Amino acid sequence: MERGSVKQEMVESKSEIKTGLTNAALIWSRILDVLQEQVSKDGFATWLAPTKGIQLEDNILKVEVPNSFFIDWIGQYYLNAIEEATKNTVNTQLRVVFCTKDSTQNSHAVTQIRSIKVQPYLTKLQERYTFDSFVVGECNRFAYAACKAVAESPAEVYNPLLIYGGVGLGKTHLLHAIGNHAKKLKQGLRVYYTAAETLFIELIQGIERGNTLNFKSKYRSQDILLIDDVHYLVGKERLQEEIFHIFNNLHGEGKQVAFTSDRPPHEIPTLEERLASRLQAGLVVDLQPPDIETRIAILRRKAEKEGFELSQDVAYSIASRVNSNIRQLEGCLIRLIAISSIQNKKITIEIAERALNAIVPKTDFVTKEKIIEKVANDFNLRVSELKSDSRTRNVALARQIAMYLMRKLINLSLKEVGAYFGGKDHTTVLHACDKIEQMRTQDIETDERLNHLILGIKGV
Ligand code: ADP
Ligand code: MG
Repeated sequence: MERGSVKQEMVESKSEIKTGLTNAALIWSRILDVLQEQVSKDGFATWLAPTKGIQLEDNILKVEVPNSFFIDWIGQYYLNAIEEATKNTVNTQLRVVFCTKDSTQNSHAVTQIRSIKVQPYLTKLQERYTFDSFVVGECNRFAYAACKAVAESPAEVYNPLLIYGGVGLGKTHLLHAIGNHAKKLKQGLRVYYTAAETLFIELIQGIERGNTLNFKSKYRSQDILLIDDVHYLVGKERLQEEIFHIFNNLHGEGKQVAFTSDRPPHEIPTLEERLASRLQAGLVVDLQPPDIETRIAILRRKAEKEGFELSQDVAYSIASRVNSNIRQLEGCLIRLIAISSIQNKKITIEIAERALNAIVPKTDFVTKEKIIEKVANDFNLRVSELKSDSRTRNVALARQIAMYLMRKLINLSLKEVGAYFGGKDHTTVLHACDKIEQMRTQDIETDERLNHLILGIKGV
């Protein structure tokens, strides 16, 4: 829906504005009302209640959160619910953008609805991301060493450098660390950090204004250019071309470029083709999920920095729940720190377990029974119907979704799933999973329904 209806909405809510709330605050608080019904009580209290709407311009609603962990956490868990709630509340494609107090002035589009995978982008080099604050383990030793070498000898060792790895494994951290370290070693060095998505927005703006020259010259005048999340370039040919030219130019002048991506280069085929010969001259390093010792070490390091006393058993409890995403690991710790400071008490393993259950359920909390119940509920059916042989369309679809979720959420084998549904053949299960996966990519409504279901099942 268009701007018109947001305006309409704003007009309609004039009477309420008199109460002193701004439009932004008002609309956001309505969205929060809806969200409160949809997410767990604890989740709401921790992550959503402390947010506030601060600005509404065109169709962008800016929401302020206490710190960047909130952006990460909300981005990870609540975007779908927020999107849904926004649609229901203002019946609009309002874009919700999150920012922290200190980033209000200088960061644009931090996290926006519809881009669940998009992490918050801060456009400046972040000082807190340094090599010193990066915990090194087997999983990241090589990437760390490569980044450090690049920072110490820009454009001399690995150019370009490409770091790839899954979400929350430290790509952005390392990229900033290169910049920070290089600047420290050589004063006056021009280092520029940006995200591929930001580049895209700038490019579009340049094209709209009929001027892409500024866009180019800004990037071409850097000594070190750091571009985060280039997987965003998939399918964006024009942007790839521009980036390739900028890169060529910098490379030709002996300037350093480093990229990150959530996948290896061969999974961004057109980019790889263009960069192929260059990448050979450079280096591609990957980040693996951290093992438990590294996870515990990261938690200890963070706790120490925050002046928080973290006992070994609590550290272990967090580390054994969250096994890959370091951002999530930090999120758990922050929650415990918050509880401890609000309630002014020491975090025992019991308190920790209770608090963590609410936000990161142990995977074994997700069971076949829970899945089938939630799905049946969502379709207004009985569990027994899903387990029956009924081929009614609705029942069949619900059954297929349940099968799919059992595979996806608890990794049951095809055989186990088949057995659970009264001895169905494993090819039936396979077919169901393929079908749902496909529907999910093709039909946005199904995708939303599933995301919602998954959140419900995980009890987020
Ligand atoms: P990515 O860009 O790969 O999604 P980030 O670089 O944003 O991940 O990392 C997520 C969070 O985890 C950040 O707060 C970062 O500081 C932290 N982090 C990641 N890896 C490490 C590590 N090895 N040591 C300490 N903190 C880390
Ligand atoms: Mg990142």
